[in-house]
Amino acid sequence: MAATLKNFLNALDCRQIFYHEPHKPHELVLRKRTLVRFFLIFLFLTLTGCEQTQPSRSEFALGTVCTITLYEQGDKTVYNNIFSRIREIENLMSVNIPSSDISRINAAAGIEPVQVQKETFNVIERALYFARLSGGAFDPTIGPIVSLWNINGDNPQVPSREKIDASLPLVNWRNIELDAEKRGVYLTRRGMTLDLGAIAKGYAADEAAVIIKNAGISRALIDLGGNILIIGEKPDKKPWSVGIQNPLDNRGSVIGVLHTAEKTIVTSGVYERFFKENDRRYHHLFDPSQGYPAQTGLLSVTLVTGVSMDADALSTAIFVLGYAKGLSLLKTLPDTEAIFVFEDKSVRTTSGINFTLTDDSFRLQP
Ligand code: AMP
Ligand code: MG
Repeated sequence: MAATLKNFLNALDCRQIFYHEPHKPHELVLRKRTLVRFFLIFLFLTLTGCEQTQPSRSEFALGTVCTITLYEQGDKTVYNNIFSRIREIENLMSVNIPSSDISRINAAAGIEPVQVQKETFNVIERALYFARLSGGAFDPTIGPIVSLWNINGDNPQVPSREKIDASLPLVNWRNIELDAEKRGVYLTRRGMTLDLGAIAKGYAADEAAVIIKNAGISRALIDLGGNILIIGEKPDKKPWSVGIQNPLDNRGSVIGVLHTAEKTIVTSGVYERFFKENDRRYHHLFDPSQGYPAQTGLLSVTLVTGVSMDADALSTAIFVLGYAKGLSLLKTLPDTEAIFVFEDKSVRTTSGINFTLTDDSFRLQP
């Protein structure tokens, strides 16, 4: 019995994105609470051919549960190195750590430029690239709006129109000044704040991949709260199966399965962080021009591409842009595919996606 349970738990490490729970690490275990769920997941894994894995390691970092699965040579040192790199990135880029580069930049907004570490500088540069590319739908200066809504905090609420109007002028990626020589970052207006929440996890996944590859490991799975990065091929050379979360249901239920080679798969969805007020749901993906959660008829956008940082920024950008504009942007990018899930329960994919719908309450559109 104990062995069977252990097998179940190991099997759950193949869960990929259909079983993540960003806010409550302890629930990673607690949510495996009913035998029914155990059974369904076991069945799912059997059906999708997800193999038995080596033990993986989960830790809470970057505000989410990070799970690394090394399918070979999964020794302790490699796991330690990966998680210390993830924490290093958190210590540089979190808005919640007062000594982080980002907090120092924010505290000096409108006062003076701040010298930052190379990696922080590079991520900010890349964030600006996506801000420009998306016409500002992705905007790393969204911080004042994020704080106002407090969706990540204990007491989220719909802010007054006045407060939103007062904060909106502070949201403008053009007011970030970079000095490459000095690695200086300057927010030109007092009250501006950077928030790399839509891109830092992707960067951390890419960095974890570097460590894994440098350790000579050719097969691994990185899952940073649903930001998935797959390294290598399955032994049987068949595509990997990644469950796509049902944005309307509890975490753990999927609408279908993406079949994919070694890629990164990153979703931005309304279900990740939200609160309800007067029977309305307010999610965490903001339209920087409005200061309100973006309403484009989408429930989630999943990006499938090579670089996790890019997938992370793009999933947020494309969610905010909506389907039509998002698709136009996608068409300009090589090797970048997407799955769109709409409020009317229709699902669309770009042409390079191999997706099987498993929940027939959703409709796959041509
Ligand atoms: P993700 O889950 O990667 O889409 O990132 C969502 C997080 O990014 C939010 O919790 C905010 O911290 C931040 N964010 C929200 N809206 C935007 C936006 N339009 N541009 C950039 N970052 C955003
Ligand atoms: Mg993102």
